[in-house]
Amino acid sequence: MSEAAGTPTDTPIDSLAVLEARGTTAEAFGIPLAVLAELTHRCPLQCPYCSNPLELERARDELTTDEWKRVLGELAGIGVLQIHFSGGEPAVRKDLTELVRHATDVGLYSNLITSAVLLTRGRLRALADAGLCHVQISFQGSDAASADRVAGFRNAHAQKLDVARWVRELDLPLTVNAVMHRQNLHQLPDIIQMAVDLDADRLEIANVQYYGWALKNRAALMPTLAQIEDATRIVEEAQARLKGTLAIDYVVPDYYALRPKKCMGGWGRQFFNISPTGKILPCHAAETITGLHFESMRGNRSIASIWRTSDAFNRYRGTGWMPEPCASCDYREIDFGGCRCQAFALTGNAANTDPACTLSPLHERIFRTAEAEASGEVSRFVYRNFKGGTPEADTHDDA
Ligand code: SF4
Ligand code: SF4
Repeated sequence: MSEAAGTPTDTPIDSLAVLEARGTTAEAFGIPLAVLAELTHRCPLQCPYCSNPLELERARDELTTDEWKRVLGELAGIGVLQIHFSGGEPAVRKDLTELVRHATDVGLYSNLITSAVLLTRGRLRALADAGLCHVQISFQGSDAASADRVAGFRNAHAQKLDVARWVRELDLPLTVNAVMHRQNLHQLPDIIQMAVDLDADRLEIANVQYYGWALKNRAALMPTLAQIEDATRIVEEAQARLKGTLAIDYVVPDYYALRPKKCMGGWGRQFFNISPTGKILPCHAAETITGLHFESMRGNRSIASIWRTSDAFNRYRGTGWMPEPCASCDYREIDFGGCRCQAFALTGNAANTDPACTLSPLHERIFRTAEAEASGEVSRFVYRNFKGGTPEADTHDDA
């Protein structure tokens, strides 16, 4: 790496050094406080809405243990405070405990985002002993049969329940992640109760966002407007009832929105993630936008330098790149024009206004698409895998 401010190190950085770095480089570059490390794209599950790209990165190309340690040291050195270990399934990596230990040593707060099915109680204890601070477990539903069908993995749901209990027995904070769509939204009250019964601190209820695998499966996943209205009412009631017991975050689906979400807090403003092969990305779906080149930590530039000056980060940063109607809109510094990946997926040009916005000329069309798909016949999934996807067998009863 070429810049001293972002110089990687394999030696632990003491907390004073981290604080000093935070007051200099991090402020100067506006470095995000939290970073997502996608350790691998390998995963035993096959969720049809997986946010990983359709072109999954292969195990042979993944960063080595030493390379990830270098990343962690470099992040701590430039003022990052939290590392989210994600994937694919991060527990596929045999060095996960070693990486958590290293994160602890360099002063990072670590969170594990996991499908849980590869975790034993012993492995979880080793992770806790290595300094793991928080665990997020994804659930595909509230009943085993339908959840296992969505995951494409037998017995996944029961294993997740076991692991969630071990997390709490080890006194680690627990977040339950639930991705919602047409085929599981009716389970929402039970999912909320499941999170309470598991003694979770937080429940993230996220309606599917449609890019990558989810776009491929959109017709099988798209909810009806009536489902979304019901879900919003159920969530609001639960948020009031469970205040102080369970914090509930709720992400509404774009296609039925009036304005787009402030995706990632704005492109290149508050977030980056690192792909299994070391690419520094503005969001986990950014590679769906063809024509952008994303630099890797394996090149000759520091992460801070890539964040600050790379073309991919600067292309849609701020408001200067915006076309009308965003360019003269009062909301342009509130939502930053919405999601670039969605604009690309739905219009073919990432610089267009996100069609989730009612001011986009394409908004009406995506709303009608959503309505038509939500009431359509398609219910079978294309499962996510390294072969480019496998259609679900003709064995389940169509919803
Ligand atoms: S969404 Fe499903 S398939 Fe994708 S990484 Fe998470 S658990 Fe694995
Ligand atoms: S026109 Fe652009 S800035 Fe205005 S609300 Fe829509 S997406 Fe946001």
